[in-house]
Amino acid sequence: MKYPIVKPFLPDLLHYQSHISDIFQRNWLTNNGPCVEMLTEKLKGYLGVEHLLLVANGTLALHVAYQTMSITKTITTPFTFAATSGALRLQNIQMRFSDVCDKTFNLDPKKVKEQDLEWADSLVPVHVFGNPCDVNAIQSLAEKYNLKVIYDAAHCFGSEYQGQSLLNFGDCATLSLHATKMFHSVEGGAIIFKHQADFEKAKKIINFGQNQSQLPVLVGTNAKMSEMHAAMGLSVFESVDLIMSHRRALQQEYIKQLTEYVDLQEHAIGAEFNGAYMPTLLKNQDELLYLKQKLEDNGIQTRRYFYPCLSDLDTYAKSVAMPNARSISSRILCLPMYYDLSFEDVGIICNIVKSILTNFRQKV
Ligand SMILES: *Cc1c(COP(=O)(O)O)cnc(C)c1O
Repeated sequence: MKYPIVKPFLPDLLHYQSHISDIFQRNWLTNNGPCVEMLTEKLKGYLGVEHLLLVANGTLALHVAYQTMSITKTITTPFTFAATSGALRLQNIQMRFSDVCDKTFNLDPKKVKEQDLEWADSLVPVHVFGNPCDVNAIQSLAEKYNLKVIYDAAHCFGSEYQGQSLLNFGDCATLSLHATKMFHSVEGGAIIFKHQADFEKAKKIINFGQNQSQLPVLVGTNAKMSEMHAAMGLSVFESVDLIMSHRRALQQEYIKQLTEYVDLQEHAIGAEFNGAYMPTLLKNQDELLYLKQKLEDNGIQTRRYFYPCLSDLDTYAKSVAMPNARSISSRILCLPMYYDLSFEDVGIICNIVKSILTNFRQKV
């Protein structure tokens, strides 16, 4: 494939090797070593957050966040990656879906049913494609019904809202640092907590529930990030500004060229975009399938995010229909987005997209 949908960013090899040499010299491979500490400090400063805990991946970040908040009944979105709900179900947390907004693709606070709000002890919304949820309306619901708010912010590295990191909203927010994400440590994740007490509790949970004296005072797991992974994070971090600014610019270019051909995600007012993905919304599924096939024939890989929506899967107790989630999940196609892509590449991809769509629309 000439243009894959994603391509992991590879940092300078010598830089990475120098971190690995240091690790060999110390012979300290995991358990909150110096690389994990250094990466934690760098990310706190860069993202503008206070209580940040690095973990082994974004899915464990969700598990640990749910456990730290002691949630048992939650309301979540059907339009997300399977990890959000999978982690809930694995922990036997009861869940109900609530539909998304058809413009922002995020959980719509206006659509959440009163009876569900009275039943639940928490909300698990997702900032889809890095686009901020209506965090103020969600906060009001949380206060009125006494709910914890855990954001799956896997897509939100570098997303800003109302002048600060989007990760500062909610009781906690989780990040994925997977190789295919915006910023990565091969495998990795992070949890950002509002309250220090929750942060301290989670720190024990990721290390078998042990306190400083190795006494397991909580039920815990192993979700620690290794030194080798943190070293990769440190090496990628050297280029984080370049990665972000280039991807944002690519996203702007895509939007400029495609705005009259496809519908685009409506961005929250005042949101700073991070260029995490390039989702396009087609008129219907037939058009999407045609475009996807023709692009593939031209060496351009695309991906459907997230199809089918979780509320249409037996796995998650296929239940009440979620019309907006169903409609958008049948029509969203993401285009290639990665640091190695050039403006020229985006121009080539957009021209092909436009001609395929023009062709298809003339036929029907
Ligand atoms: C990638 C992703 C995750 C899982 O992160 P991993 O680091 O791959 O475990 C969770 N939620 C969403 C929305 C994601 O896109």
